[in-house]
Amino acid sequence: MNYHDTHFHLDLMPSPEETARLIEQQKIYTIAVTNSPTVFFYTEKLASDKKYIRPSLGLHPELVAERYTEVNQFVQMISRTRYIGEIGLDNHNKVPADYKLQKKAFEKIVLACADAGEKILTIHSRRAARDIIDIVGPSFPGKIILHWYSDTEAQLQKAIKNGYYFSINHPMLHSKTGEEIIKKIPIERLLIETDGPFTKRGDELFTPLMAGDIQKELASIISTDNTLSDCEKIISDNFERLLGKDY
Ligand SMILES: [Zn+2]
Repeated sequence: MNYHDTHFHLDLMPSPEETARLIEQQKIYTIAVTNSPTVFFYTEKLASDKKYIRPSLGLHPELVAERYTEVNQFVQMISRTRYIGEIGLDNHNKVPADYKLQKKAFEKIVLACADAGEKILTIHSRRAARDIIDIVGPSFPGKIILHWYSDTEAQLQKAIKNGYYFSINHPMLHSKTGEEIIKKIPIERLLIETDGPFTKRGDELFTPLMAGDIQKELASIISTDNTLSDCEKIISDNFERLLGKDY
């Protein structure tokens, strides 16, 4: 059984090359998200001789206001990889003009992904799940992962109905609301993420090397009918199914 991390900012680690080497050595499937098209090339290069690291083209919602001009570049680069993210919307403490621009960028990106087909998207949805779900819709021709979901139960249920996946990280497992959300998600939609280096365990930055610990902890929270190892296996199988032929 291989572990996985569907949302990790490899390029923002203190030593990305060393971290990449360890990920490959430990065979942890990693979706290495990026925050803008101009920085994608570095991660693409880091991943070029690696089986387990998948470079992901992104435009972080909180950077859209200053980097809106990169949206066209994003669309032009879309065929370079199957993996898309970090993208999304963030409506936490945002002025209306900023959020409006985010929506415009997100709509263009989602449309380009739908046209391309078979993309795997890892999406940020803080205080914006309703708009995300409206834009992505119920029959997106690709795979949708809502990363670090924290919005309402009504939107959660809609996202589940639409077939989206949810990637779970350490802070979610250690907050009451996070745990409540996790327990409402069907087991076959759960995936693991670290969101390192934005998350820490004590003083240690999270990396995919710790994804197995998150998976074990998640299994212990959700196991009722299944044994722990069955739960872990189901979560790993989810990732294998997500990638399909690219696993
Ligand atoms: Zn992130």
